[in-house]
Amino acid sequence: MEGILVFLLGLILGSFANVCIYRMPRNMSVVKPASHCTNCNNFIKWYDNIPVLSYIILRGKCRNCGSKISFIYPSIEFVCGLLFLSMFFLFGFSYMLFPFCLLMFSLLVITAIDFEFQIIPDEFSFMLMIVGVVTSFFNFMLGDTISQRIISSFIGLLAGGGSLFIVAVIGKWLFKKDAMGGGDIKLMAGVGAFVGWEKVLFAIFIASLAGSIVGIFLILFKKIIKKQEIAFGPYLALGSYAVLFLPSPNVVINYLMMLEENFLVKYVFTNIQNLG
Ligand SMILES: [Zn+2]
Repeated sequence: MEGILVFLLGLILGSFANVCIYRMPRNMSVVKPASHCTNCNNFIKWYDNIPVLSYIILRGKCRNCGSKISFIYPSIEFVCGLLFLSMFFLFGFSYMLFPFCLLMFSLLVITAIDFEFQIIPDEFSFMLMIVGVVTSFFNFMLGDTISQRIISSFIGLLAGGGSLFIVAVIGKWLFKKDAMGGGDIKLMAGVGAFVGWEKVLFAIFIASLAGSIVGIFLILFKKIIKKQEIAFGPYLALGSYAVLFLPSPNVVINYLMMLEENFLVKYVFTNIQNLG
């Protein structure tokens, strides 16, 4: 039951995410004016502004002028609902749910804006840094005691921002151009405040891996237009989301080592004994 409420809240905020995605890169206010059709400027009535449902009822067309509404709008709403729901599965109906839903909302908006405009709005990154640190005292992901959690949040913030800052400095020195945007640095400082240093570095690793794989495919299929900037934000968001569900890196390494040991004991040593 609570899960349905969280999902519905995600849908509604997904609708607001669309407003942010459209207006923030165009330097427009996200509160005024009210939602209107981008074609005929007609204000959208509340009953035509219900997440996902209105799009289906109106068959993807403006009620006033009949112009096509992008499929991206209901998709963003639906994805936001699913992201919120996944946080509910992770944290239950607890204090943790609210800051992490805010993190999901921010990552979704950042992904969409960075994908289209190659910018990450500072408003979100700074908000994440503040909320991450302020709510760290009940963030059990960061440690057992309150003081541990607050310190972990700060270290996470420094590790997330600092590691990408170092990459940016080295990149600039090697390639004589900006390899890493300031937006990426601030975003990962914000994520680090939520998840701590181990997970934020793991997130950056996953982002780099995913980015490289997609990059190789794009080069292979000659989809890259020269000088076209590739946004790193969507990969960072993906990595940040993934680490919430993955065990911490040292658990993964321990597990791999355990597998290897078992493999050595079971197969290699017995084979050696058989040989002997
Ligand atoms: Zn219209």
